[in-house]
Amino acid sequence: MQQKPSPLHYVRPNILRLEPYSTARDEYTGGNISVWLDANESPYNNGVNRYPDPHQRELKRRIAALKGVVPESVFVGNGSDEAIDLAFRIFCEPGRDNAVAIAPSYGMYKVAAAVNDVALREVRLAPGYGLPAEALLAAADAQTRLMWICSPNNPTGNAFDPAVLEELAARFDGMLVVDEAYVDFSDRGSLLPALQRHPNLILLQTLSKAWGMAGLRLGLAFAAPEVAELFARVKYPYNINAPTQAEVMRRLDVDVAPQVAEIKAQRAWLSGVLPGLPGVEHVFPTDANFFLLRVADADALYARLVGQGVIVRNRSRVPGCEGCLRVTIGTPEENRRLVELLKHPQP
Ligand SMILES: *Cc1c(COP(=O)(O)O)cnc(C)c1O
Repeated sequence: MQQKPSPLHYVRPNILRLEPYSTARDEYTGGNISVWLDANESPYNNGVNRYPDPHQRELKRRIAALKGVVPESVFVGNGSDEAIDLAFRIFCEPGRDNAVAIAPSYGMYKVAAAVNDVALREVRLAPGYGLPAEALLAAADAQTRLMWICSPNNPTGNAFDPAVLEELAARFDGMLVVDEAYVDFSDRGSLLPALQRHPNLILLQTLSKAWGMAGLRLGLAFAAPEVAELFARVKYPYNINAPTQAEVMRRLDVDVAPQVAEIKAQRAWLSGVLPGLPGVEHVFPTDANFFLLRVADADALYARLVGQGVIVRNRSRVPGCEGCLRVTIGTPEENRRLVELLKHPQP
């Protein structure tokens, strides 16, 4: 295998040259300060009158320890959506560079590509929603800077073989982004250990799913330190507000393993009962906290469930998901209710 270039090789020249905005709190480098007259804040303490740490040092140290990486490899954003947008802004020259992604997959890759005027080359998953590794590599050309893979994939639910993803990172001449939003539910594990071997790898995770903090908006990215530094340079200085930083710190001490275990147990139960229910034609295997179901009449079933107070996601108009609904795994009681409603087509 030929020697890979530094990931900085793929960065837009204007971003490499960028001098980041220097905040008041950047210039302060320690010392025993008791009077803060540097940032034009209100001096009246109401809990939120001070700017938050623009580098989120405490939070990054905590997340790094949790994940077994160095803090310099961590980026925290306003949801994963911020990291997705930043990846396009850092690596893709608008109107010129392009990106490759699997399809069907998470809709934000396409939206962020369009906002940044970057062509997104979608490569359909192989039959059975397998990873089309060769087709992904074949879709890339000299202007391809990013490749997007979601594993476990939304909306199909399946995770891809980490060894195959690592091989893609080794062979792709650009940055491979693997979105691991649902990794906590998967037995296939994270690609985090592969970061050391592949500086062109960016991993996205989030506190919105297994960690139960969707309302706080905290997305994580892990990358080689020189790549994580680019994300920090381009982001808004105070992208994570003070209450979110504090609340996340507090909630990371709460063990969500029992909740994840219950969801996985419910997933096993549902994968047994769903296939036998009237109108359910196929239950796709899942490594996530949701099921993709192919049903006899997706629009009709969707409307009936809404009428009965249960909302699922109608994915039947997504190419590759014809006839499919995506159903999140809820509490045991919610899942029993869903199964009861599916069992009795006549309300
Ligand atoms: C839910 C989800 C996310 C999380 O997005 P946040 O902005 O962090 O809430 C990221 N990627 C995928 C594929 C998702 O389904």
